[in-house]
Amino acid sequence: MALENVVIIGSGPAAHTAAIYAARANLNPVLFEGFLAGGIAAGGQLTTTTDVENFPGFPEGISGPDLCEKFRAQSARFGTRIFTETVTKIDLSRRPFRYASDEQEGEARAIIVATGATAKRDDVPGTRDGELWQKGVSACAVCDGALPMFRGKPLFVVGGGDSAMEEASFLTKFASKVYVVHRRDELRASAIMQNRAKANPKIEMLLSHRVQAVEGGHTVEQVRVHDLKTQTDRVLHAAGLFFAIGHVPNTAFLNGQVALDDQGYILTTPGTTQTSVDGVFAAGDVQDKKYRQAITAAGTGCMAALEAEHFLSAH
Ligand code: FAD
Repeated sequence: MALENVVIIGSGPAAHTAAIYAARANLNPVLFEGFLAGGIAAGGQLTTTTDVENFPGFPEGISGPDLCEKFRAQSARFGTRIFTETVTKIDLSRRPFRYASDEQEGEARAIIVATGATAKRDDVPGTRDGELWQKGVSACAVCDGALPMFRGKPLFVVGGGDSAMEEASFLTKFASKVYVVHRRDELRASAIMQNRAKANPKIEMLLSHRVQAVEGGHTVEQVRVHDLKTQTDRVLHAAGLFFAIGHVPNTAFLNGQVALDDQGYILTTPGTTQTSVDGVFAAGDVQDKKYRQAITAAGTGCMAALEAEHFLSAH
């Protein structure tokens, strides 16, 4: 059975940055990029978006899939061995650790988990892949809200928690109006976030409502909402709809061997990527429910590789 120095699990900016650093430190890393793991293509969440305009180095912007391809090419250039397989099992009960995919198993002296998170989306007609997804429908206001297509137009946010309030407030910088749609007649968000959103004259709450359909041609043009109390429908003009109903971190395969928070995100020692198990590091959205950006994922990927290198030289 192969014994690797470091096995990197994941394929977004965190995993590939870790691979670039580990490869250039002569650690000869192996990277498992997954095969539709968490329902997302190898390359991670950026494969699901169109323009990325906030990643430094690309002043004209770059498409999400092109950026992922560049990350991968840079890892490969320094000798990272990349397998298009999902890691299904790991055993952290002893060192070296054991790991397995459907195709192979092996041992690793250190592991970097960079398996990301998947943004949740409601299954609403018009919002699916191949319909208006990424043509006005998104799951990341901070990423996409500033795009020219949304400027000065009415927008929708779906959700009732803190992130929905935050995303709605953020979008008022660009939108003429932001409707927040929530199924219940009370929001789940903390009082302070609710009050801030309610005090914003550009935000209108549509409580006890559900989005029935998103309609348009090449891009979003209108949203059909259903009032759950009166059982009536309304059609409102809008250029975009943002789901803000949470994320699912891809941590199930860890099988409880690493400490997680109550939402399933990996807990790390603050200021580091160290998990509850010595020699296991976590980078990117799998351990970050606050920033969730490509650049922050890349930053923690770099930290994880440097910390793994330090760990390997000491053990
Ligand atoms: P992810 O990108 O989440 O990738 C993790 C990968 O690991 C996935 O491909 C998954 O399939 C794989 N994986 C999971 N489990 C396993 C396993 N067991 N074995 C092997 N592989 C596995 N950020 C920006 O900075 N700018 C933007 O413009 C931007 N736009 C966005 C638009 C949308 C619609 C979304 C959803 C997100 C956007 N983001 C943007 C956020 C950004 O995509 C994420 O913050 C970033 O991709 C997180 O990177 P990551 O490396 O943590 O992992």
